[in-house]
Amino acid sequence: MTDLAELDRLELQQTLADLGVPRFHGTQIYRWLYKRGVSDLARMTDLSRKLRARLAETVTITTPELIRKEVSSDGTAKFLFRLADGRLIESVYIPDTPAQTFCVSTQVGCAMRCAFCLTGKMGLIRNLTAGEIAGQVRVLAHETGLADQSFNVVLMGMGEPLHNYDAVMKSLRMLADKDGFGVNPRRVTLSTVGVVPAMAKLAEEDLMPNLAVSLHATTEAQRDTLVPINKKYDIEELIDACRKMPLRRRGKITFEYVMLAGENDSPADARRLVKLLRGLKAKVNLLPLNEAAGIDFKRPSDDVVDRFATILADNDVTVSVRKSRGRDIRAACGQLATDR
Ligand code: SAH
Repeated sequence: MTDLAELDRLELQQTLADLGVPRFHGTQIYRWLYKRGVSDLARMTDLSRKLRARLAETVTITTPELIRKEVSSDGTAKFLFRLADGRLIESVYIPDTPAQTFCVSTQVGCAMRCAFCLTGKMGLIRNLTAGEIAGQVRVLAHETGLADQSFNVVLMGMGEPLHNYDAVMKSLRMLADKDGFGVNPRRVTLSTVGVVPAMAKLAEEDLMPNLAVSLHATTEAQRDTLVPINKKYDIEELIDACRKMPLRRRGKITFEYVMLAGENDSPADARRLVKLLRGLKAKVNLLPLNEAAGIDFKRPSDDVVDRFATILADNDVTVSVRKSRGRDIRAACGQLATDR
């Protein structure tokens, strides 16, 4: 059985053509799936009964099964999904005005093992398929009633997107399709820990998302301990790869910087960060640590965060502090883990 949810629109049309079914039916099915959130062939009423019955014998359509939805006091919602093999993943809806954002996972667990991240504690269980990545957006868009509106997609859930490159790029293609949601790549942000060779590949893509880089440290020794992949691709190589990224007009790379009390939050750290980013089209997003059981770091006080941000701003570095959304339901950055 071919799983139609794993196909982009052209592949879907080709699959139907191979079965002797006219291609335009592929467009119809794609619209049902994305625009109307219907993944049951029997309900695709603009296909003839005969065609539906025939397809039911040769194809399936898999959608992540929503098994729990928790809503935070700030409106953020966390979705727990069961996948076809029983594995669990989480996605988050972050409402804001004017932008609505879906934060989706790209892997079950993560191999990167950043010292402060709960997902990393799970290790990598498996990659998600393109259909599972796009499927989270399908379900969230319909659960939130936003399927007809534009929304942002951030690849900032569980997993390292550039460690699952092909599936991630295919899911972006599926989401960008005009017969689906038509998500403009400008509304997509891919966050990476810095898988340097994959960044070079990304630089060549047509559907180039915005890039966020999880920097988190300013010296090699410090980053080696916080973000272990630094031992393979160090800060120097990472910054070099960032310099080579093509950017849109007025585009900038976001550098995420988790703030850990007494570890990387001093004025000297801030000044080193200024120096490191010199000459780059960059903005910094400070992420005061979201604490969790099993994470041996502390969140710095707001004053310490402000002092750090002020040093950046005084040196003409654009800086923002990430609002921590959904902490009461463990939906905030670094808190996604389904290995209970
Ligand atoms: N693997 C990708 C995608 C994850 S995005 C990446 O590393 O970029 C999630 C962001 O939240 C990353 O910047 C990550 O380092 C950060 N993060 C992880 N644990 C956190 C925590 N406990 N508190 C705040 N931010 C955290």
